[in-house]
Amino acid sequence: MNIKHSNTKKLIVLLIICIAMTFILSELFIITHAAHDCIGEHCYVCAQIHTLENLLKQLSIVGIIIMAGFFKSLTSFVFISRNKSYVNMTPIILKVRMNN
Ligand SMILES: [Zn+2]
Repeated sequence: MNIKHSNTKKLIVLLIICIAMTFILSELFIITHAAHDCIGEHCYVCAQIHTLENLLKQLSIVGIIIMAGFFKSLTSFVFISRNKSYVNMTPIILKVRMNN
């Protein structure tokens, strides 16, 4: 179970790195090719720029969903770690006498 959880963490980190690299490389392509020698209606560079802009729009939606999931898991982790002292308390641990 620990190995499975570790592999899942590695896959999530790899997915985040891939999405970040896609953002960076797409933006670099758009920036470096913004002032190209455009041939007009059937320009391949303009078509690539348009495709990358659509990809970035779609990935930004995925990024928002991933960030929402990250913050949800972070807040639940903080809530559990704050209340950890109350989770495992039993009358035996608290040394409560119940023979009254
Ligand atoms: Zn062009």
